[in-house]
Amino acid sequence: MFNQLISRFSRDIGIDLGTANTLVYMRGKGIVLREPSVVARHAHGGRGGAVAVGEDAKMMIGRTPGDIEAVRPLKDGVIADIDCAEHMLKHFIEKVHAKSGIWRPYMVIGIPSGVTEVEKRAVENAAQQAGARNTPFLIPEPMAAAIGADLPVEEPTGSMIVDIGGGTTEVAVISLGGIVVARSVRVAGDEFTDAIIQYMRKVHNLSIGERTGEDIKIKLGSAYPRIDDQEMEVRGLNLLSGLPRTVRVNGAEIREALQEPVQQIVDAVRDTLERTPPELAADIIDRGIVLAGGGALLQGLDELIAHDTEISVHVADDPLSCVALGTGKIVENPRLHHALRNSR
Ligand code: ADP
Ligand code: MG
Repeated sequence: MFNQLISRFSRDIGIDLGTANTLVYMRGKGIVLREPSVVARHAHGGRGGAVAVGEDAKMMIGRTPGDIEAVRPLKDGVIADIDCAEHMLKHFIEKVHAKSGIWRPYMVIGIPSGVTEVEKRAVENAAQQAGARNTPFLIPEPMAAAIGADLPVEEPTGSMIVDIGGGTTEVAVISLGGIVVARSVRVAGDEFTDAIIQYMRKVHNLSIGERTGEDIKIKLGSAYPRIDDQEMEVRGLNLLSGLPRTVRVNGAEIREALQEPVQQIVDAVRDTLERTPPELAADIIDRGIVLAGGGALLQGLDELIAHDTEISVHVADDPLSCVALGTGKIVENPRLHHALRNSR
């Protein structure tokens, strides 16, 4: 009874701890924070050496003087740096919680499905240090993404979600509140950006940074042939002269550059479909495949997957927010929360 009263008045939160972006959903308010999962710190500072977190830290990537480094603590879907991840999570929770009431919040946290028990405990610790009430509920990201994308996860029907983030792509088939088949590959948006950077070096002798590579991907990138390919000017360093140069590139070139990592994602989807029990596969044929995560915004990726699997593919309404909205629905809905806790 007292517990119910506390939970009625506390601002419980849902967190998407992504490899590229962290989002926080607050009960009754919606998404209240959306920042890059980046920490900038003194290279030899050890613990507590952080100088900036989130948006401020991302600005520093590729621009830091020698003794400051920008770290992405979750880069490949595993927690590469536990201290940094704890520091970041604490920073974000304190940032939203400072303005929000008296009681400690209960937390639902979406984490990459590949993390180990040790990493899970690190996330739980960080949340508790940042003021979580009780042990947080950790939920695999593909499940949270499916809930956020409004898939009928609790029904006895197969739903397929493909969450293409920064560091990892997670493919999962869900039925009756559980993940039936899943596959996680370390190829996603970051690899798309890397492929563009490599292409610019090889073909145009131009050295560009991560931010420029991402910019090209968002403006020109595509996975499936289109008639209205664009062009843009790219600035970087010429590898032969060592001087700053401008080069024009077009969409067809970038599509070529992206082909390999994009194909690896298509293969992961095919592989998961092949391992799906036949009844659930039949449901997926009826209902289609849903794409979530920032990588789903790459033009034509949906068409390519549909073409290759011969199954219809839809991009979720707000792919960058699916996981956070999913954790938010769990925080708002005690019945769903209860059902998911018990179906593990
Ligand atoms: P994570 O869940 O791993 O934190 P996100 O779902 O936030 O990742 O997606 C981040 C990835 O999406 C980044 O690689 C980013 O470059 C990519 N991205 C964001 N917007 C677009 C876009 N419009 N087109 C292509 N890629 C995009
Ligand atoms: Mg994600």
